Amino acid sequence: MCRIRVSGNCRTSQKQGKLGPDAGEPHAALYLCMRKCVTCPPMEETRRRHEIAAVFCEPNSITLPETKHHMTKDVCNKLRKKLPMKPSICTSFDYKIPFAQCITMIRQAGFEAISLGARPKHSGFDTAQGRIAIRKLVEQNGLTIDSMHAPFPEGDQLFSLDAAARLESIRQCKIAIDTARDILDINGRIVALHLIPYGIPQGDVRNRMIAQGMESLKTLEAYAAGKEVKLALENGQKLDYDQVLESCLSAFCGSTIGFCYDSGHENVQGTCYRILEKLGRRLVAVHIHDNGGSDSHMLPYEGNMDWDKFRKIFHGLAYSGNLVLEVGIAHSQFKDPTLFLSEARRRAEKLLQRPTGLGSTLDN
Ligand SMILES: [Zn+2]
Repeated sequence: MCRIRVSGNCRTSQKQGKLGPDAGEPHAALYLCMRKCVTCPPMEETRRRHEIAAVFCEPNSITLPETKHHMTKDVCNKLRKKLPMKPSICTSFDYKIPFAQCITMIRQAGFEAISLGARPKHSGFDTAQGRIAIRKLVEQNGLTIDSMHAPFPEGDQLFSLDAAARLESIRQCKIAIDTARDILDINGRIVALHLIPYGIPQGDVRNRMIAQGMESLKTLEAYAAGKEVKLALENGQKLDYDQVLESCLSAFCGSTIGFCYDSGHENVQGTCYRILEKLGRRLVAVHIHDNGGSDSHMLPYEGNMDWDKFRKIFHGLAYSGNLVLEVGIAHSQFKDPTLFLSEARRRAEKLLQRPTGLGSTLDN
């Protein structure tokens, strides 16, 4: 008996009974659905789900993986072969450039995927109309959105003791989750979150903030799970922040909450790549950038990070998302945005090469 489980958005087909348990020959049913729903915008999602399902295809059964999280290396490798890791870049690289222009420039630099930056007013993701416009723009440019940042600073007070500020942050993060649900690629749908602010000393206040933060995450976990969105908790620039991160990942060990590795943040602590190795098992997103010891979001190979070592560790992890550059033009040596983006792409491709023996240099 064939079993198909599609929980995507193809509402027309679901209504027509073309999808669902025991719907008959699986591929035929999906293709039928695709043919009947050419006007249904979420069809792209069904197609992507089919691609993912095909990785796991056995003669009489297709089971869609609910998550890329906690997957075995074997499954991860299969998924990677089907959906290869791509270079991606955050739209925050220069907020002075209007969003629509950023998108076309990113495409012209050869990227196929983007991550939405944290400023809602830049992309317009905080309104339904804005989200429609983003979707249209990225589709016109042949791009997909693999992840996004929660609104900053609006959504950055999840650990606040000020109830109003904390609830407003939760509301803002829910807007990001809605955005992820509406316009992010089915293989992504990840919202990156920051945790406790830096500089809160050990003691009662800090402990109460952590308790409030856990409450915020609990609320957001339930909301995100209902929308099939994942939350990716970023590591920070301080050891005591990362201790909170580890507590949160331990407390929320389901598939909805995972780890977002921020390379620049770890380099500020000078511990590269200890936390990547330690928490890599939970990795669902990456924010890749370089620096010389302060969080300057330079391109890889512009700062002092050991990128050969990064590649050796990174490519050994069961991670199947994209390689997202969270870089900014402000501190880069490349001041021309076109050149900056083409350098970004070139360096991302370099990092995507699996290491062979002695590693490599950019000049290959
Ligand atoms: Zn980051």
